[in-house]
Amino acid sequence: MQNTSEIEELVKLISKLPGLGPKSAKRIVLKLINNRDELVKPLAKTLAEVYKNISRCKICGVLKSSAIECSYDNCKVIQRKYNQICVVENIADQWSIENSNIFKGYFHILGGTISSVGHKKEDLLINSLIERVKKDKIDEVILATSATVEGQTTAFYIQDSLSNIDVKITKLAQGLPVGGEIENLDDGTLLSAFKNRSKINSNSS
Ligand SMILES: [Zn+2]
Repeated sequence: MQNTSEIEELVKLISKLPGLGPKSAKRIVLKLINNRDELVKPLAKTLAEVYKNISRCKICGVLKSSAIECSYDNCKVIQRKYNQICVVENIADQWSIENSNIFKGYFHILGGTISSVGHKKEDLLINSLIERVKKDKIDEVILATSATVEGQTTAFYIQDSLSNIDVKITKLAQGLPVGGEIENLDDGTLLSAFKNRSKINSNSS
């Protein structure tokens, strides 16, 4: 294939996306080039808008419009709607739980796990979680981190960080397959893990 440098660059970028290798990236690029007006133009526009307008909330980690404060009504709590907060590793986990309709409450997205590559505990939104639990008078913190070593280490660290606060802390049930990542669980497994979550601390009544 005689590629121009723009095309090579595009193939390189697309093959960085999850689930795509160079082969599928080339097929995507070909599809794009053959549909310049229907695909390339709106895609370029939308990407530019997402880049400009969407960011992660620095307090709760959800995706929000950059222009305004947490529009999700997730961490700028004006009127307290919920008394539970569900702590997850990443946005994909939040979406899985939301789609399954298991949980109605606030979310807190850490942005990774403690020992995953490149993540130190300072990078994760743990301090802001502690602040939220205090400020929003949360009754229960549900730790929905993955059943991996990193996920469990992170859950333990959070439990420890909340040990001086009068709040119930629960963890998803062991219905989670060992090594299971939240975003890959089916709704049934997720539901049973939520229902059977267990209390893991003693600093609340
Ligand atoms: Zn927020």
